[in-house]
Amino acid sequence: MKLILLGPPGAGKGTQAQYLQNKLSIAKLSTGDMLRAAVASGSELGKRAKDIMESGGLVPDDLVVDLIRTRIAQSDCSSGFILDGFPRTLGQAEALDNMLKSENKHIDFVIELKVNDAELTKRIAGRFSCTKCGIGYHDDFKKTKVAGVCDECGSKEFTRRADDNVETVAARLQAYHKQTAPLLPYYKNRGVLVSVDGMAEIEEVRKQIDDIVKIKEKIT
Ligand code: AMP
Repeated sequence: MKLILLGPPGAGKGTQAQYLQNKLSIAKLSTGDMLRAAVASGSELGKRAKDIMESGGLVPDDLVVDLIRTRIAQSDCSSGFILDGFPRTLGQAEALDNMLKSENKHIDFVIELKVNDAELTKRIAGRFSCTKCGIGYHDDFKKTKVAGVCDECGSKEFTRRADDNVETVAARLQAYHKQTAPLLPYYKNRGVLVSVDGMAEIEEVRKQIDDIVKIKEKIT
Protein backbone atom coordinates (compact mmCIF):
# COMPACT_ATOMS: atom_id res chain seq x y z
CA MET A 1 0.00 0.00 0.00
CA LYS A 2 1.24 3.49 -0.84
CA LEU A 3 -0.05 6.27 1.35
CA ILE A 4 0.56 9.98 1.72
CA LEU A 5 -0.18 11.79 4.97
CA LEU A 6 -1.00 15.39 4.14
CA GLY A 7 -1.58 18.22 6.57
CA PRO A 8 -0.03 21.28 8.17
CA PRO A 9 2.90 21.07 10.59
CA GLY A 10 1.68 19.76 13.94
CA ALA A 11 -1.36 17.98 12.48
CA GLY A 12 -0.08 14.62 13.75
CA LYS A 13 1.37 13.21 10.52
CA GLY A 14 4.48 11.85 12.26
CA THR A 15 2.49 10.17 15.04
CA GLN A 16 0.07 8.52 12.63
CA ALA A 17 2.84 7.59 10.18
CA GLN A 18 4.64 5.81 13.00
CA TYR A 19 1.44 3.94 13.88
CA LEU A 20 0.84 2.92 10.26
CA GLN A 21 4.44 1.83 9.83
CA ASN A 22 4.04 -0.65 12.71
CA LYS A 23 0.53 -1.74 11.71
CA LEU A 24 1.21 -2.30 8.02
CA SER A 25 4.91 -3.22 8.29
CA ILE A 26 5.84 -0.87 5.51
CA ALA A 27 8.48 1.85 5.36
CA LYS A 28 7.80 5.35 6.65
CA LEU A 29 9.52 8.05 4.64
CA SER A 30 9.76 11.44 6.28
CA THR A 31 11.60 14.09 4.27
CA GLY A 32 11.78 16.21 7.45
CA ASP A 33 13.65 13.39 9.26
CA MET A 34 15.91 12.82 6.25
CA LEU A 35 16.75 16.53 6.05
CA ARG A 36 17.38 16.80 9.81
CA ALA A 37 19.76 13.82 9.51
CA ALA A 38 21.52 15.58 6.63
CA VAL A 39 21.86 18.76 8.70
CA ALA A 40 23.20 16.80 11.68
CA SER A 41 25.76 15.02 9.48
CA GLY A 42 26.98 18.30 7.98
CA SER A 43 26.58 16.96 4.41
CA GLU A 44 26.32 19.26 1.37
CA LEU A 45 22.56 18.72 1.36
CA GLY A 46 22.40 19.52 5.07
CA LYS A 47 24.33 22.75 4.55
CA ARG A 48 21.91 23.84 1.82
CA ALA A 49 18.83 22.89 3.85
CA LYS A 50 19.77 24.16 7.34
CA ASP A 51 18.95 27.87 7.08
CA ILE A 52 15.83 27.27 5.01
CA MET A 53 14.50 24.82 7.59
CA GLU A 54 15.28 27.14 10.47
CA SER A 55 13.40 29.96 8.77
CA GLY A 56 10.35 27.75 8.20
CA GLY A 57 10.55 27.81 4.40
CA LEU A 58 10.57 24.88 2.00
CA VAL A 59 13.77 23.25 0.72
CA PRO A 60 13.97 23.33 -3.13
CA ASP A 61 11.96 20.65 -4.92
CA ASP A 62 14.91 19.05 -6.74
CA LEU A 63 16.68 18.27 -3.45
CA VAL A 64 13.72 16.56 -1.77
CA VAL A 65 12.61 14.81 -4.96
CA ASP A 66 16.10 13.28 -5.25
CA LEU A 67 15.93 12.10 -1.63
CA ILE A 68 12.59 10.38 -2.22
CA ARG A 69 13.60 8.93 -5.59
CA THR A 70 16.63 7.27 -4.00
CA ARG A 71 14.69 6.11 -0.97
CA ILE A 72 11.71 4.50 -2.73
CA ALA A 73 14.07 2.55 -5.00
CA GLN A 74 15.30 0.65 -1.93
CA SER A 75 14.05 -2.88 -1.34
CA ASP A 76 12.11 -2.14 1.86
CA CYS A 77 9.79 0.12 -0.15
CA SER A 78 8.86 -2.55 -2.72
CA SER A 79 5.69 -3.57 -0.83
CA GLY A 80 4.65 0.01 -0.13
CA PHE A 81 5.42 3.08 1.94
CA ILE A 82 3.94 5.92 3.93
CA LEU A 83 5.02 9.41 2.94
CA ASP A 84 5.13 11.92 5.79
CA GLY A 85 5.87 15.51 4.76
CA PHE A 86 6.27 14.78 1.05
CA PRO A 87 5.04 15.99 -1.39
CA ARG A 88 4.69 19.59 -0.22
CA THR A 89 4.39 21.38 -3.58
CA LEU A 90 2.65 20.65 -6.86
CA GLY A 91 6.08 20.19 -8.48
CA GLN A 92 6.92 17.47 -5.94
CA ALA A 93 3.53 15.79 -6.44
CA GLU A 94 4.03 15.70 -10.21
CA ALA A 95 7.57 14.36 -9.83
CA LEU A 96 6.24 11.62 -7.54
CA ASP A 97 3.48 10.72 -10.01
CA ASN A 98 6.06 10.41 -12.80
CA MET A 99 8.37 8.29 -10.64
CA LEU A 100 5.55 5.87 -9.81
CA LYS A 101 4.05 5.88 -13.31
CA SER A 102 7.33 4.75 -14.80
CA GLU A 103 6.99 1.59 -12.68
CA ASN A 104 3.26 1.15 -13.24
CA LYS A 105 2.54 2.10 -9.65
CA HIS A 106 0.27 4.68 -8.06
CA ILE A 107 -0.67 6.23 -4.72
CA ASP A 108 -3.59 4.38 -3.08
CA PHE A 109 -4.65 7.05 -0.61
CA VAL A 110 -3.84 10.56 0.42
CA ILE A 111 -5.00 11.04 4.00
CA GLU A 112 -5.54 14.66 4.93
CA LEU A 113 -5.34 15.53 8.64
CA LYS A 114 -7.51 18.62 9.14
CA VAL A 115 -6.55 20.87 12.06
CA ASN A 116 -7.04 24.60 12.58
CA ASP A 117 -4.07 26.97 12.82
CA ALA A 118 -4.60 28.05 16.46
CA GLU A 119 -4.48 24.44 17.62
CA LEU A 120 -1.37 23.75 15.54
CA THR A 121 0.65 26.49 17.18
CA LYS A 122 -0.21 25.07 20.64
CA ARG A 123 0.69 21.56 19.56
CA ILE A 124 4.01 22.44 17.98
CA ALA A 125 5.27 24.60 20.83
CA GLY A 126 5.19 21.68 23.30
CA ARG A 127 6.63 18.92 21.12
CA PHE A 128 9.66 16.83 21.98
CA SER A 129 10.91 13.38 21.02
CA CYS A 130 13.10 10.61 22.33
CA THR A 131 16.65 11.07 21.05
CA LYS A 132 17.19 7.32 20.89
CA CYS A 133 14.04 5.81 19.33
CA GLY A 134 12.48 8.97 17.87
CA ILE A 135 9.01 8.53 19.34
CA GLY A 136 7.15 11.82 19.72
CA TYR A 137 5.70 13.36 22.91
CA HIS A 138 4.04 16.60 23.98
CA ASP A 139 4.28 18.60 27.23
CA ASP A 140 0.48 18.69 27.59
CA PHE A 141 -1.12 16.21 25.17
CA LYS A 142 1.18 13.18 25.20
CA LYS A 143 3.42 13.02 28.24
CA THR A 144 5.76 10.14 29.03
CA LYS A 145 4.17 7.71 31.52
CA VAL A 146 7.14 8.19 33.88
CA ALA A 147 8.48 11.74 33.87
CA GLY A 148 11.73 11.98 31.93
CA VAL A 149 11.75 8.36 30.72
CA CYS A 150 10.78 7.23 27.21
CA ASP A 151 7.78 4.82 27.25
CA GLU A 152 9.17 2.87 24.31
CA CYS A 153 12.88 2.43 24.95
CA GLY A 154 13.54 3.74 28.47
CA SER A 155 15.98 6.40 27.29
CA LYS A 156 16.24 9.57 29.36
CA GLU A 157 17.40 11.80 26.53
CA PHE A 158 14.95 13.94 24.63
CA THR A 159 15.24 16.46 21.80
CA ARG A 160 13.24 19.52 20.77
CA ARG A 161 13.34 20.57 17.11
CA ALA A 162 15.08 23.86 16.32
CA ASP A 163 12.11 24.91 14.17
CA ASP A 164 9.42 24.11 16.76
CA ASN A 165 9.12 27.66 18.07
CA VAL A 166 6.33 30.21 17.75
CA GLU A 167 8.15 32.46 15.22
CA THR A 168 9.07 29.66 12.82
CA VAL A 169 5.66 28.01 13.13
CA ALA A 170 4.01 31.07 11.55
CA ALA A 171 6.29 30.78 8.50
CA ARG A 172 5.72 27.02 8.29
CA LEU A 173 1.96 27.50 8.37
CA GLN A 174 2.19 30.14 5.68
CA ALA A 175 4.26 27.77 3.51
CA TYR A 176 1.63 25.09 4.07
CA HIS A 177 -1.32 27.26 3.05
CA LYS A 178 0.44 28.76 0.04
CA GLN A 179 2.45 25.86 -1.36
CA THR A 180 1.04 22.61 0.06
CA ALA A 181 -2.72 23.19 0.35
CA PRO A 182 -3.07 23.23 -3.51
CA LEU A 183 -2.28 19.50 -3.34
CA LEU A 184 -5.72 18.89 -1.82
CA PRO A 185 -7.68 19.64 -5.04
CA TYR A 186 -4.87 17.94 -7.03
CA TYR A 187 -5.44 14.62 -5.22
CA LYS A 188 -9.20 15.12 -4.91
CA ASN A 189 -9.41 15.25 -8.70
CA ARG A 190 -7.59 11.92 -8.85
CA GLY A 191 -10.14 10.39 -6.44
CA VAL A 192 -7.57 9.40 -3.82
CA LEU A 193 -8.08 12.09 -1.17
CA VAL A 194 -9.68 11.16 2.16
CA SER A 195 -9.95 13.68 5.01
CA VAL A 196 -9.94 12.89 8.71
CA ASP A 197 -10.61 15.12 11.69
CA GLY A 198 -7.13 15.80 13.01
CA MET A 199 -8.59 17.82 15.92
CA ALA A 200 -9.81 14.59 17.53
CA GLU A 201 -7.82 12.66 20.15
CA ILE A 202 -4.85 10.67 18.79
CA GLU A 203 -6.72 7.36 19.33
CA GLU A 204 -9.78 8.61 17.48
CA VAL A 205 -7.71 9.82 14.52
CA ARG A 206 -6.04 6.41 14.51
CA LYS A 207 -9.47 4.72 14.30
CA GLN A 208 -10.52 6.92 11.38
CA ILE A 209 -7.29 6.02 9.56
CA ASP A 210 -7.75 2.33 10.39
CA ASP A 211 -11.18 2.42 8.72
CA ILE A 212 -9.69 3.93 5.56
CA VAL A 213 -6.90 1.38 5.41
CA LYS A 214 -9.36 -1.52 6.05
CA ILE A 215 -11.51 -0.47 3.10
CA LYS A 216 -8.44 -0.45 0.90
CA GLU A 217 -7.32 -3.88 2.16
CA LYS A 218 -10.77 -5.29 1.27
CA ILE A 219 -10.61 -3.90 -2.25
CA THR A 220 -7.13 -5.29 -3.01
P1 AMP B 1 8.75 18.38 8.82
O1 AMP B 1 9.55 17.55 9.76
O2 AMP B 1 8.01 17.57 7.81
O3 AMP B 1 7.86 19.38 9.55
O4 AMP B 1 9.80 19.26 7.98
C1 AMP B 1 10.67 20.17 8.62
C2 AMP B 1 11.22 21.14 7.59
O5 AMP B 1 11.96 20.41 6.60
C3 AMP B 1 10.18 21.90 6.80
O6 AMP B 1 9.72 23.07 7.48
C4 AMP B 1 10.95 22.25 5.52
O7 AMP B 1 11.86 23.29 5.74
C5 AMP B 1 11.76 20.97 5.30
N1 AMP B 1 11.02 19.98 4.49
C6 AMP B 1 10.58 18.76 4.88
N2 AMP B 1 9.97 18.11 3.87
C7 AMP B 1 10.00 18.95 2.82
C8 AMP B 1 9.51 18.88 1.48
N3 AMP B 1 8.83 17.81 1.04
N4 AMP B 1 9.75 19.94 0.67
C9 AMP B 1 10.43 21.03 1.09
N5 AMP B 1 10.90 21.18 2.34
C10 AMP B 1 10.70 20.14 3.20
